[in-house]
Amino acid sequence: MMNIKVFKFGGASVKDAPAIENLQSILRRYPDDKIVVVISAMGKTTNFLEKVLAAYHDNSADVPVLVDELQRQHVSVAEQLLPDPGGVVDALCKLFTQLRERLTISPSQNYDFDYDQIVSFGELLSTTLISGYLNHAGIPNMWLDARRLVRTDSTYREGRIDWEITARQVREGVEAGLSQGGVVLTQGFIGGTAENLTTTLGREGSDFSAAIFAHVLDAESVTIWKDVPGLLNADPKRFDDAVKLERIPYEEALELTFYGASIIHPKTLKPLQNKQIPLYVKSFASPDDEGSVITNCRLSTVIPSYIVKDNQVLITLFPKDFSFMGVDNLSIIFSLLAKYRVKINMMQNSALSLSICTDNVGDRLKKCMAELRKNNYKVKYNAPVQLITIRHYTPEAVEKAVGIKKLLMRQTSRATVQFVVEP
Ligand code: ASP
Ligand code: MG
Repeated sequence: MMNIKVFKFGGASVKDAPAIENLQSILRRYPDDKIVVVISAMGKTTNFLEKVLAAYHDNSADVPVLVDELQRQHVSVAEQLLPDPGGVVDALCKLFTQLRERLTISPSQNYDFDYDQIVSFGELLSTTLISGYLNHAGIPNMWLDARRLVRTDSTYREGRIDWEITARQVREGVEAGLSQGGVVLTQGFIGGTAENLTTTLGREGSDFSAAIFAHVLDAESVTIWKDVPGLLNADPKRFDDAVKLERIPYEEALELTFYGASIIHPKTLKPLQNKQIPLYVKSFASPDDEGSVITNCRLSTVIPSYIVKDNQVLITLFPKDFSFMGVDNLSIIFSLLAKYRVKINMMQNSALSLSICTDNVGDRLKKCMAELRKNNYKVKYNAPVQLITIRHYTPEAVEKAVGIKKLLMRQTSRATVQFVVEP
């Protein structure tokens, strides 16, 4: 199979009927290409389903009210898009019946397991609706169930990919789909275990899904259609003079996403870099514009890039027995961080302490800290704090991003400076 393009449409690009019509007009621009379309849940559906899940776990009477509301939203979009929405509405209602049935089972002890079984409905709903609409609009397509394509282990909410089985399943499924002409359409964010249980790949994981499909299909490119003109050097909501980066090498993009540039899911780049597949970031509102490309290239303009991460926790650990913060202590600490999947965004050690800046992963972080205490570490923490990272920093850039904020920790390397500050 050659020359496949993978397109990823995120929540904002399918948020309502006009957005979905626009998706259709983008696909029309590529009549001769083999396209695999990976789609997220509509708009804020994933957040909404997280609310449903929380209500379900609380045994709250809100559950049916919320589900009704979500059904109304989806049915209403179908009715706006289709003159004769009956078939699509039926398909949506079938999914809602399954969701309601799922919600009658008592919550399990494993919140993450329940999360995946319930929150995954967002992508099933959006793709069912869009597939029906595209067929009507004259873009024949085959709907594929990503739970039967992307094989993961049972790490719920962060499924780890079994690449061999995924490659086989995706190739078979996509080949069959494309052989019928038209496009192949599937869900981002979701996968399935060997036991046919649904998993998810982590919030915003549809980008990663697109990269998985591209990798195993040896695709010619991936395009992420976004509500921004491309990859910017800063979040325009925080910096009013953000500018677009035209060409970005994989390594540079990886550094930016690692530190929290939220434009692309951090796991997206490795599968693409490994096969040298370019990643385009383009505006769905102006598809004629260039956008950005991440590929094997030199950075088009070396200017400071700013990444600001909120809701961080700064943890400082001290061995209670006054031992050095050497490899023995570090290996105990790191294996506990790995066990609880606590990601290090920045760290620094002295003779008797180690400080780590991490995302606030809630319960997992609390359990991790408790186990560190049991292992004879004194644990102190500050929260919430903010992590500011500047790539290709200059004194002016530091002044602009940090200014008079109260500094808790600072680290500098040749290309990057990071600050943990009080928000
Ligand atoms: N719908 C999921 C989320 O909002 C996955 C994604 O959009 O990439 O997190
Ligand atoms: Mg989303």
